[in-house]
Amino acid sequence: MSDIIQLLPDHVANQIAAGEVVQRPSSVVKELLENAIDAQATEVKLLIKDAGKTLVQVIDNGLGMSETDARLAFERHATSKIKTAEDLFDLQTKGFRGEALASIVAIAHVEIKTKQESQELGTHIKLEGSKVISQNLIATPTGTSIAVKHLFYNIPARRNFLKSNTIEARHIIDEFQRVALAHPSISFSLYHNDGELFNLKKGNLKQRIIAIFGTKTNEKLVPIGEETDIIEIHGFIGKPNFAKKKRGEQFFFVNGRFIKHPYFHHAILNAYEGLLAHGYHPTYFLYLNVPTNTLDINIHPTKTEVKFENEQALYAILRSTVKHSLGQYNVAPMLDFNKDATMDVPYHFKDKPSSTPRVSVDPTFNPFETQKYASSIDKKSTTQNWDSLYVNVENDALAIQNMEVEAQVVTKELFEENQFNTTAKTFQIHKKHILSVIKSGVVIINQNLAHQRILYEEFLTKITVEDALSQQLLFPIKLSFSLAEVTLIKDIKTDLESAGFRFDAINNENVIIDGIPTLVKEGQITAIFEELLDAIKHEVPESSFSQLDIIAKSLANSLAIKNGTKLNSQEQERILEQLFSCKEPNHSPYGKNTFVTFSLDEIELKFNN
Ligand code: ADP
Ligand code: MG
Repeated sequence: MSDIIQLLPDHVANQIAAGEVVQRPSSVVKELLENAIDAQATEVKLLIKDAGKTLVQVIDNGLGMSETDARLAFERHATSKIKTAEDLFDLQTKGFRGEALASIVAIAHVEIKTKQESQELGTHIKLEGSKVISQNLIATPTGTSIAVKHLFYNIPARRNFLKSNTIEARHIIDEFQRVALAHPSISFSLYHNDGELFNLKKGNLKQRIIAIFGTKTNEKLVPIGEETDIIEIHGFIGKPNFAKKKRGEQFFFVNGRFIKHPYFHHAILNAYEGLLAHGYHPTYFLYLNVPTNTLDINIHPTKTEVKFENEQALYAILRSTVKHSLGQYNVAPMLDFNKDATMDVPYHFKDKPSSTPRVSVDPTFNPFETQKYASSIDKKSTTQNWDSLYVNVENDALAIQNMEVEAQVVTKELFEENQFNTTAKTFQIHKKHILSVIKSGVVIINQNLAHQRILYEEFLTKITVEDALSQQLLFPIKLSFSLAEVTLIKDIKTDLESAGFRFDAINNENVIIDGIPTLVKEGQITAIFEELLDAIKHEVPESSFSQLDIIAKSLANSLAIKNGTKLNSQEQERILEQLFSCKEPNHSPYGKNTFVTFSLDEIELKFNN
């Protein structure tokens, strides 16, 4: 018998470890920024080329490294930050594993220039795939500059796995923002392909939030603060009436570190209960400080998950602190759904009960909803929406190819003449599903998902095949965004134009729109852009990415008739017809089933047990 186990050579081990730490360019950004902060820098500059695929460089004015340290820094488990296992329980720094730089050099070309205050000349080292290529003395300012080029150059599979520049840049901006929000007293700047994206001067927390998310953020936030033996909380929370339809600006920082914490997130939602319309998400920037020995951040190398001692107590404190702030700043009484209907409040109030029902049934089943909350604006936009759905449907011949409709017979036999419209081939169930009888049994269609599919294909054709028609706006609409969002919009401007949008100007925080696609109504623009930006930010890895596709999906998603909307029989039939004239009627643009069928046999079985 021969022995077969071997120790992996270091460079192989490093490449494997790198997979854990470096998933994409933004992971490099995070590690380098955190190292700069650990080195007590007061000014940090991030330079990016091609969304980090070509270059990620961080320049800091921190402590710098000695020559020996600069060499050692790229070895695995080389760290100046902890010495013993006990130190793990009293962490004052972001890094502690000593594996980031070792991982990065294993899969990239790296160049470092570093100098300590006391040194005359600094150290200049070039490495490629963990190998030192050259080392010299160099005249360089105090601090450290690390440039990471050609990430994944030796792992083509990983390189190919990277997303479009728009998406990778988005990830980088996210990391940058998290670090910048955690450290308002440090100045940060970010340049992408030589263009300046952020230039954040040092300041207080509120100034930092505003510098990142735009001046409009100012009026939307209220301060929050609490101090107990086990936790100190400060930061800002969003007024409920500015809540967004999409989860966006929600940040927890613990001891200066961005974390995700679903349990604490739940505490916040709980505090907002009754103040937020259904489906809306609060904004929060919450800074928690706990004694270092009650926090375990050793869970995952990318370190956004942490564990607290006393999670339940912290949950309760968080919840009551948020509640208190909402009450103290008199936020609740300001809640007025009819205020400002044009800009900030999306167009369909009627999907928004004023408080989340506690029962565990689908809230859209509430039969009183429409009378109670429908406003005239909603009515109008819904009908307009419907009108537009009927444009272009001259093709009745295409309808429901394999489906023979037999509903008439059934209704006549089972029900009184005028209890149902006896000519109807369809029924709406709970303002959500459309039921129709087909030869083999019944089909049940989800009205929202089906309409998404219909609109999606319509938009895709409009965008890609024909020249999408645009309607000129009499009064251009001005929308405010954060700088990062404006950058995203600039990136996809051409695609938006082929979808029918016309831009008068796109500058710092504003986008002025003077033309919109013909299918779209003015009042829907805010919701559409919110949806679109969210889709781009959260593009899911498995779906094939194309910007046009995302635009079509977002338009479809925001314009599709909502569940909870009553449809007359003609409208129901249109949905049915149009759905089954689609190329892929079975699924919504996001891959959900648009309908289900029950065969007669299946139904029969239910009676035979
Ligand atoms: P960790 O941050 O977990 O210690 P890293 O691999 O990120 O591990 O860094 C290794 C070491 O290199 C750090 O402990 C630190 O001593 C040194 N180092 C890295 N980046 C910098 C920097 N920007 N300025 C000064 N020292 C740095
Ligand atoms: Mg580090």
